[in-house]
Amino acid sequence: MDYRPELVGGHLALDLVNTVAWRLDDRRRIDRIADPVNLRRWLTAVGLDPAGQDPGELVRCREIAYAVLHPLTAGDEPRAADLAVLRELVEDAVRNATLVSARPLTWRAGTVGNQVRLAVWRLFEDEDLGRLRQCGDNDCGWLFLDRSKNGSRRWCSSADCGNRARARRYYQRHSGAPA
Ligand SMILES: [Zn+2]
Repeated sequence: MDYRPELVGGHLALDLVNTVAWRLDDRRRIDRIADPVNLRRWLTAVGLDPAGQDPGELVRCREIAYAVLHPLTAGDEPRAADLAVLRELVEDAVRNATLVSARPLTWRAGTVGNQVRLAVWRLFEDEDLGRLRQCGDNDCGWLFLDRSKNGSRRWCSSADCGNRARARRYYQRHSGAPA
């Protein structure tokens, strides 16, 4: 089946993290952007230039973002080594960007790789990471910002992981299988 990017993270940097499907299941994990056609599909879906991108650069951004964000979803501190790499990423983002105006401070990112770096930086700078969640599915591993009023969102997609969980509960209730 063709890859159709699902943009459910609520932020470009999280939609990048979510280009790994089944991140928490070693047997099923799929890196969607390892395939050049899918990489172009994803870039187009998020509104970035799909031409001639370096997937390695995006993967590096993605993995450092995940390494720092994942502990936050569990209320833990990220590892110092990961924070040091995040700092390098932010430094690179600024070094490669052009300052367009001073008030308000506005940057032009330049390349797609740098647009993604800036997006990762902005996620940490601008967003309330108290609303960062990991999907309630055991294997999914997708991250999102819970922008619901009462902070009750549990699933990356209610149609997807949410639906599977409902089906599983239904089956357990009606089959006598242990929960
Ligand atoms: Zn999910």
